[in-house]
Amino acid sequence: MVTNRTFTMLKPDSLEKGNTGAILEKINTAGFRLVAMKQTQLSKRDAEAFYAVHNERPFFNDLVEYMTRGPIVAAILEKDNAVEDFRTLIGATNPEEAAEGTIRKIFATSISENAVHGSDSDENAQIEGAFHFSGREIF
Ligand code: GDP
Repeated sequence: MVTNRTFTMLKPDSLEKGNTGAILEKINTAGFRLVAMKQTQLSKRDAEAFYAVHNERPFFNDLVEYMTRGPIVAAILEKDNAVEDFRTLIGATNPEEAAEGTIRKIFATSISENAVHGSDSDENAQIEGAFHFSGREIF
């Protein structure tokens, strides 16, 4: 089932570099509507839970450390075909492989510090949005 919402995080490197506004501008220009947004910081437990699917991977500890080292911006975005279109907008996980003009190509440093998260399925978009936002924070 295709839904019209996805979930994103601007990761700590984006906030450290002062790229929040520029990335949100790209997201808005691409036609996504912000239905929920907040600046927050993940605890170790939050990051371990959010990325539990990767907990056997060699980079898991680095990923948790990176995602907890400073604030993030979490948001739920709305647009037709949101999950797929947002993955196209952000580009490949590794910025060296990301298409020109994509958010990761422009703003990411490396495969680990890659500027933004985007849900990879409608099901995960729903789970991840609910992880960060209560019903009264979604408009
Ligand atoms: P995504 O869906 O494009 O974010 O990619 P994945 O779900 O495969 O990975 C989740 C996150 O883990 C990525 O966005 C990166 O921040 C990090 N990551 C993925 N692969 C690697 C890797 O090979 N090395 C390191 N250090 N981090 C990685």
